[in-house]
Amino acid sequence: MTESNQSTETGLEGELVAWLKDNWDPESTVAEWWERLGTAGWAAPSWPAKWYGQDLSPSEAVRAQQIIAQFGALGPPGGLGLLLAGPTIAVQGTDEQRDRYLRDIVTGQKAWCQLFSEPGAGSDLAGLSTSAVRDGDQWIVNGQKVWTSTGTTADLGMLLARTDPDVPKHQGITYFAVDMHQPGVEVRPLREMTGRALFNEVFLTDVVVDDDAAIGGVNNGWAVANTTLGFERSGLGAGGGSAAGGLAGPGTVTGDLARRAGDFTEKRGRRAGGGGMGFVGYETLTELATANGTIADATVRQDLMRLFSLYEIAKYTRLRQKALAGRGGSVPGLGNIAKLSMSDILRRTRDLGLQILGARGMLHGYQSSEAKALAERDGNQLAVGVTEAALFAQGPSIYGGTDEIQHNILGERVLGLPREPSNDRSMPFRELPRNG
Ligand SMILES: Cc1cc2nc3c(=O)[nH]c(=O)nc-3n(C[C@H](O)[C@H](O)[C@H](O)COP(=O)(O)OP(=O)(O)OC[C@H]3O[C@@H](n4cnc5c(N)ncnc54)[C@H](O)[C@@H]3O)c2cc1C
Repeated sequence: MTESNQSTETGLEGELVAWLKDNWDPESTVAEWWERLGTAGWAAPSWPAKWYGQDLSPSEAVRAQQIIAQFGALGPPGGLGLLLAGPTIAVQGTDEQRDRYLRDIVTGQKAWCQLFSEPGAGSDLAGLSTSAVRDGDQWIVNGQKVWTSTGTTADLGMLLARTDPDVPKHQGITYFAVDMHQPGVEVRPLREMTGRALFNEVFLTDVVVDDDAAIGGVNNGWAVANTTLGFERSGLGAGGGSAAGGLAGPGTVTGDLARRAGDFTEKRGRRAGGGGMGFVGYETLTELATANGTIADATVRQDLMRLFSLYEIAKYTRLRQKALAGRGGSVPGLGNIAKLSMSDILRRTRDLGLQILGARGMLHGYQSSEAKALAERDGNQLAVGVTEAALFAQGPSIYGGTDEIQHNILGERVLGLPREPSNDRSMPFRELPRNG
């Protein structure tokens, strides 16, 4: 670290710690705390100061979240509002839309979900067929979405809908902010093999969205969607995620806004070497292996070191990417590589975790009561986290664009390899052959 970086970091730390001393109060409600944090610019410090940020570089913003966590305060609202919708609107929205949506995101008042994927459009997202038909200054939306994470608790959705089927598929899509609490929006949870129901099917029947909720303009949704996907890949890529966020749920549905803020920090979970639901770090695995004696196995020690090294590489890659982005630069494909690296790390974590657990790895608490009973039997929470992470390990290689799609992007857009032959960039969407 250079001298000037050091002094900048000390300045940031001093300023933020002083602010936290004056403002953090574990007795306040989550809503009151997030109001203070968000409006002071510390929930999204890399955003422009004019729009609830602090104009910090991305790496300084990561450091700010670490300082909040180390101080013991509750971090910013987690979820897709702060991760995806906010930064997308900050880049692609009008001032009026920034005014309307960003404050509720940084203060956690509104939670968002991402209504992109459909039963017939995942990797081929631009093939989506949910339609939005203009009716005066409104649009009427019909269709089905799937895999919608946190759909049951969302107040608003980032909706991709087809607004012009008579142009090639990438050109006739619009990106809307849609109210999830309206007639015609039906959210059906899908239970996954971890036992949780993280994602949902969402059925949209004559759902109404105002024209002024089209982010980035009508028929420009593909560019806006790619802005969101860019934030998704770098956010979900190696080591991403806020250190302290995500413990309390934003929005009007979870009920966390009215709860005591300190309740969330006092039971803050273990998040070594990664963080978030379904993620277990090398520190947890080392602790488990030490406790049950498998640390004596040289292959376990070797794999732990490999995992540690991969996390470190991922961390520095992410910092490099963020530092470059802060200066307006980029390394083509780095976000895709970061995401591929995280998929790899999580599969290795699964394999090593199950090796360390041995036969215990075959038991999993699908209901929270079962998980609690197993944790009590084991005398700690760690094994429960490992089986959860093992069952969730397939997820990251699918969401945000599958591993195969990341490879395709690297091949075509970074290495300049020829695209797969296709007529879908010239033929109107209506004329393209489609399933069902
Ligand atoms: C945990 C989780 C959370 C998610 N959350 C959300 C969410 O909140 N909102 C949302 O909109 N979506 C969400 N998704 C959906 C996710 O984005 C899609 O699952 C993903 O884009 C893949 O689409 P698909 O499932 O339709 O698979 P398909 O596109 O049908 O792919 C099936 C298989 O074919 C391969 N394949 C497809 N096309 C190609 C190609 N051209 N070249 C090589 N291989 C190819 C894929 O890699 C994959 O292995 C989530 C997914 C998961 C697992």
